[in-house]
Amino acid sequence: MNPERIAAARRQMGERGIDTLIVTVGSDLPYLIGYRAMENERITALVLRDNADPVLVVPALEAPRVGSPVETRAWEETEDPIAIIAELVGEGASTIAIGNQTWANFVLALQDRLATARFIEAEPMMAQLRIVKDEEELAALRAAGAAADGVVAQIAEMQISGRTERQLARTIEQLTLESGHESAAFAIVASGPNGASPHHEATDRVIEHGNAVVVDFGGRLRGYGSDTSRMFVVGDPPPGFRDAFAVLREAQRAGVDAVRPGVTAQSVDQAARDVIAGAGYGDLFIHRTGHGIGLDTHEHPYIVAGNTVELAQGMAFSIEPGIYQTGEWGMRIEDIVAVTEDGVERMNRSNRDLYVVD
Ligand code: ZN
Ligand code: ZN
Repeated sequence: MNPERIAAARRQMGERGIDTLIVTVGSDLPYLIGYRAMENERITALVLRDNADPVLVVPALEAPRVGSPVETRAWEETEDPIAIIAELVGEGASTIAIGNQTWANFVLALQDRLATARFIEAEPMMAQLRIVKDEEELAALRAAGAAADGVVAQIAEMQISGRTERQLARTIEQLTLESGHESAAFAIVASGPNGASPHHEATDRVIEHGNAVVVDFGGRLRGYGSDTSRMFVVGDPPPGFRDAFAVLREAQRAGVDAVRPGVTAQSVDQAARDVIAGAGYGDLFIHRTGHGIGLDTHEHPYIVAGNTVELAQGMAFSIEPGIYQTGEWGMRIEDIVAVTEDGVERMNRSNRDLYVVD
């Protein structure tokens, strides 16, 4: 359990008129108590009442995993965990904030049992807590970024032509683990025309001479995510690619350079987008510039038009503009950055130029 974070959660509850917080699967629970619940049909729930110590309701067979100095209420296979949670919440509860990944069947059962209470999303209060990283969190993000940079350096030394996207993705996942991450979260390998699909799932397509390849991967290190994209090309890139890449490189730099405390999230998106639009590729940049990162790979703050959240020291997010020419190629450069007292820190430092490989 993290007493400071529990106290901060209580303050948020007080400000928002929330008397009960219930969090289950997802990253809110490890944020508050250092334990990540298993995602299965047996519910695990932290119940935090405004007037009582937090209690973790956990399946008895998973209780040995908890390892957090939090009061637990282990439930046996024949018990009804919803009834146990409802009893802990009590009849006096009026506003219950519930974690945004809680399975619908559990939410519906709780609403049934606690019929007089109002259920609201816990996400706004949890986002407020999690959006600014403390020193320990920043250190983990820094270590994850450095480990990912090491993987990029290894890919740069490899021959990638003749391999399938899927084979290269598996290799990258293996390197991600060997680099110090405790898990490999994802590996996008998108070659040739597949590069135009930003979230392409690696296929059996064989990478050939002349292909540009989007490589975007990440894992978790001490619970915190890495997420980086670099561009590789086998031999000579396709027509038009180098010109667009020079623009992308400049746009990514402009996005990073725009980061400092007090500016809005959307202004960072704008800084990157202006470079791409100014060069005539605006319609080919089809996604936001970035996303926050922490215990989740995608979390607040989102670097997107319309997000007027002001950046503050300790926020961490990606800067990842892309240009996607349907049917031909795609490109993306992605770094994780953190807002410092007066500017920006890059968590990724690997070379951002085009990697020409065999
Ligand atoms: Zn990303
Ligand atoms: Zn990525």
